Amino acid sequence: VKYVYDFTQGDKDKKDLLGGKGANLAEMTKLGLPVPPGFTITTEACRAYLNEGAVPEVLAPEVTQELVKVEQQMGRKLGDAQDPLLVSVRSGAKFSMPGMMETVLNIGLNDDSVLGLAKTADDERFAWDSYRRLIQMFGKTVMDIEGDYFSDALEALKAERGVQADTDLTAEDLKGLVATYKKIFKEQTGRDFPQDPREQMDLAIEAVFRSWNTERAKIYRRRERIPDDLGTAVNVQTMVFGNMGETSGTGVCFTRDPSTGHSGVYGDYLMNAQGEDVVAGIRNTLPLAALEETDATSYKQLRDIMRTLETHYQDLCDIEFTIERGKLWMLQTRVGKRTAAAAFRVATQLVDEKLITMDEALERVTGAQLTQLMFPQIDPDAEKTLVTKGMAASPGAAVGKIVFNNDQAEAAAAAGVKSVLVRRETNPDDLPGMVAAEGVLTARGGKTSHAAVVARGMGKTCVVGAEALDINEEEGVVKVAGHTLTADDVIAIDGTTGEVFLGEVAVQDSPVTTYLADGLEAGLAAAGGDKDVSELIAAVDRLLSHADKVRRMQVRANADTPLDSERAVAFGAQGIGLCRTEHMFLGDRRPLVERAILSEPGSDARTSALTALEEKQKGDFLEMLKVMSGLPMTIRLIDPPLHEFLPDLTSLEIQAAVAKATGDTLDDTTAKMLIEVRRLHEQNPMLGLRGVRLGLYLEGLFLLQIRAVAEATAELKKQGLDPKPEIMVPLVGSVRELALIREQAEGAIAEVSANYGVDLDIPIGCMVELPRAAMTAEDLATEADFFSFGTNDLTQTVWGFSRDDVEGVFFPLYIEEGIFGVSPFETIDVHGVGRVVEEGVKRGRSTKPDLKLGVCGEHGGDPDSIHFFNSIGLNYVSCSPFRVPVARLEAGRATV
Ligand code: ADP
Ligand code: MG
Ligand code: MG
Repeated sequence: VKYVYDFTQGDKDKKDLLGGKGANLAEMTKLGLPVPPGFTITTEACRAYLNEGAVPEVLAPEVTQELVKVEQQMGRKLGDAQDPLLVSVRSGAKFSMPGMMETVLNIGLNDDSVLGLAKTADDERFAWDSYRRLIQMFGKTVMDIEGDYFSDALEALKAERGVQADTDLTAEDLKGLVATYKKIFKEQTGRDFPQDPREQMDLAIEAVFRSWNTERAKIYRRRERIPDDLGTAVNVQTMVFGNMGETSGTGVCFTRDPSTGHSGVYGDYLMNAQGEDVVAGIRNTLPLAALEETDATSYKQLRDIMRTLETHYQDLCDIEFTIERGKLWMLQTRVGKRTAAAAFRVATQLVDEKLITMDEALERVTGAQLTQLMFPQIDPDAEKTLVTKGMAASPGAAVGKIVFNNDQAEAAAAAGVKSVLVRRETNPDDLPGMVAAEGVLTARGGKTSHAAVVARGMGKTCVVGAEALDINEEEGVVKVAGHTLTADDVIAIDGTTGEVFLGEVAVQDSPVTTYLADGLEAGLAAAGGDKDVSELIAAVDRLLSHADKVRRMQVRANADTPLDSERAVAFGAQGIGLCRTEHMFLGDRRPLVERAILSEPGSDARTSALTALEEKQKGDFLEMLKVMSGLPMTIRLIDPPLHEFLPDLTSLEIQAAVAKATGDTLDDTTAKMLIEVRRLHEQNPMLGLRGVRLGLYLEGLFLLQIRAVAEATAELKKQGLDPKPEIMVPLVGSVRELALIREQAEGAIAEVSANYGVDLDIPIGCMVELPRAAMTAEDLATEADFFSFGTNDLTQTVWGFSRDDVEGVFFPLYIEEGIFGVSPFETIDVHGVGRVVEEGVKRGRSTKPDLKLGVCGEHGGDPDSIHFFNSIGLNYVSCSPFRVPVARLEAGRATV
């Protein structure tokens, strides 16, 4: 195998092999952009390393060959004492994991080459600054030395010299700092800082491989659902220097604003600095536009390159660049992370600019992003105390108590308390806290700082660079605008405006939700003249309409009240896929059910209870079917956990025991009831007398529901409405069960039809939620007009998991151990449960080729699951009303 590719050999489509950074460095090289030469060690090499626990032997000679090529091209040798070539060793996985893994700059410097560099650059200060950075970065990332040792030494030196900025330190100061750093290095590792440039490089390469498995990288991957076995590539690249004085600098920029999507000049620039300084938010940066004044030539060249890249990638790009004494170098680009709002706007902007098609635009947005846009926002009219304003980095509203670090944030989350993580700046170590908190607020850094980039990626509300905050983590206080706040205080941050408020602040619906529920006009009105928001709503409308146009699957909702049904239809539901009926038997109706269950079959008591229930059911269905007139509505016959309808066994037993102890006898009814309840008591209600089993056992129960449906339908038809009920039998495992119910149902419907003189065409189908149902679906289909896969129960029965008992208990362990990447109740387990569904589809359709198939249950609203359901040919998904827009979008995306 070939483990090493130089930058002319790859391209942007080789991300699997070269990682995102390497593939894009190669692409920029191919485009003829100024990229410092270098090479990429493949992810395959990393995987080999991770498997074997050692760097593959064949790697070193390949690296040597490529290194020599770079040395020849540059006319310099790695770490040469007179005129050294220096390189960076940079991590870069297939999916970008900002700041998660390691990069070491300035490799090749040692006690000799630092002097050579000082001479050739004619800048001693620069050379010693580069050397101290190498020892610091190498110490931290390769040797795992606690970073504070270095930053404390730097701070101490600055204090001693009485200066504020790193740049105020002299060459002599930095030379001294190198000595200090070498001492720290020796103390912490027991060895001297390696002077051999190639050894530095090899150790750094290995450290990058290793960094794939750091704790924070694992947490990030789990959150972003990135597989654990991809490995990272390693890029070795000629150093260029942004820290060579005032005509040098380094920056990060976007081709469009990553929070709104507007095109323009968005970026941060730092003069006389090296890469990390910008991202780490260590010094406050200048806006990119300021570069035009100091270096108009580089600025213009950069703008041209930005246009080239955006046209080439047909998307918003983010870029890292460095200017070395007036010469511009490109160090990284990729299709940039963006906020949900920007994703929608940019996608439609690119269509309007004729860079992409509507189908492509649909691929650029996700259901998860749409969900984010539906999050509530801070109510502009609410009473609130503004304490400061930072930069809007990632939108939404977060309200919570102040936390200062990971431990506090995680403790708050564990206690169910919402929190806002408040820090001077964040770095990758703060990831667990960022995950646990509702939002993130920093005092330093710009839109491209670590906090901003990571929060945007996670869809977490974030405000950065609120410089007025004076944060003291040790004492646990933040001072701002005359207030002294502690962990007992609640704050609110608005990631759309950058505002920070004191106390609980009211939040309200987002205008996007208003649009989704009430239409374009109402949405635009809710935007209140805000141009950005209006544009966003228009973009969502265009993309969602396109999704509706191209999608094959219908989207229905799970709803069992008139109000929910109305909301679902407003959100675009094309029917109800699951109307549960259990709740229609609770409350004041429960005693009737209890009486029906506990009385003798055929007795007056049972008949009168069932008749009373039937009247009430009919009322329920009249209301629901009226709201849903013209749209299909699948009514599931009662599928109760039996114990919810029976008197509590324990309290009956206590009554009996008390009676016995006091020498009383139980009254007749209670005594009989106790016997019945004891008999029906279940060890495992989930697998007990429920669904169709109860329907068959308790004769008349299903029948009353079916008659109620039929009568409500007939009445509404007479009123000129168009009710379209479908009757669904739950928990069927055998075709015989379904046949028995069907026979009863058809009889009842025919009778109602005759009584009312109205034609009734009510399809009868069943849930497929037991493995046996799926595996005998060719039989079931003979008696079913449709199937609805109940993937919640199917997941329980295929895995043998009781959902209520497992999720909180051992699922975290299962996810940790990689038994599954995400809970199978959240995203369908394609390989297991999914296969059972697929089998049910195939078998069902082998009997009835156009059998209508749907899915109800949580998975119906889950983006990944929706794509799977589309791929196996289901006719519709059904999900909760709030997820209907997401399902529409994803069903559309699944077809493009
Ligand atoms: P990350 O993935 O964390 O952004 P990078 O590999 O991009 O890490 O590097 C970190 C910083 O170092 C970036 O700002 C980058 O631009 C800078 N950098 C990396 N390689 C070089 C190089 N060869 N010359 C100058 N700066 C570099
Ligand atoms: Mg980078
Ligand atoms: Mg079920």
